[in-house]
Amino acid sequence: MLEVKNLNSYYGNIHALKGVNLEVKQGEIVTLIGSNGAGKSTTLNSITGLLKATSGEIWFKGKNITNIPPSHIVKMGISLSPEGREVFPELTVEENLQLGAYTRKDKKVIKETYERVYELFPRLFERKKQTAGTLSGGEQQMLAIGRGLMSEPQLLLLDEPSLGLAPNLVLKIFELIKTINEQGTTVLLVEQNASMALSIANRGYVLETGKVMLTDDAKALNNNAEVRRAYLGIG
Ligand code: ATP
Repeated sequence: MLEVKNLNSYYGNIHALKGVNLEVKQGEIVTLIGSNGAGKSTTLNSITGLLKATSGEIWFKGKNITNIPPSHIVKMGISLSPEGREVFPELTVEENLQLGAYTRKDKKVIKETYERVYELFPRLFERKKQTAGTLSGGEQQMLAIGRGLMSEPQLLLLDEPSLGLAPNLVLKIFELIKTINEQGTTVLLVEQNASMALSIANRGYVLETGKVMLTDDAKALNNNAEVRRAYLGIG
């Protein structure tokens, strides 16, 4: 479904991605793990067209989408849920969700999507008139994920959905990601919480200083001594 080939991206002089290769197949949950600054968010930003690739290619469902504008990429079926703190604080929950549907026109379909999001996150329904800045950290994460779903993406990119959440909420968010995947959305998940990410993913990639160091089935990565020591804090 998604293929990233030899991708290079820069921020000014900083060579943030150094020939990244990765693939996500339809129906999968794939996770990108790695330390701070490894290039995980940069990979997502490059896929969504927010950051221009200097070289390399990104293919989605047989089409070369390298460096096409972000709004076209959303229309093609890819959406990014940023970290929860990137919701629009002055806007209500409902207005934030509405922005996620900006590429769509059919009011009836949009209404059905609202219903789907509110079903996944009843808390958002209860707070739909509340401004996003006054939501708790966990509620803001739910809103960021919900907003990403409003374009009904075939591929959902999630950036650190568990960031700053209490352990019981972390579990809940990962369960919800599984549900979203089971309902037919393919997921590429960036996470600091490698152990939780590997527990729901099919496969994973380990990024270090802008390069893929390792890729394998999630189970194999979970049992890999080096991964356990460096990213799971075990052994
Ligand atoms: P984290 O888990 O800390 O968010 P990450 O793996 O997502 O890390 P990125 O945010 O992709 O890492 O950053 C990769 C590198 O690019 C880092 O060295 C970072 O300092 C740099 N970088 C990221 N955004 C910018 C920017 N807007 N301007 C300059 N450098 C940036």
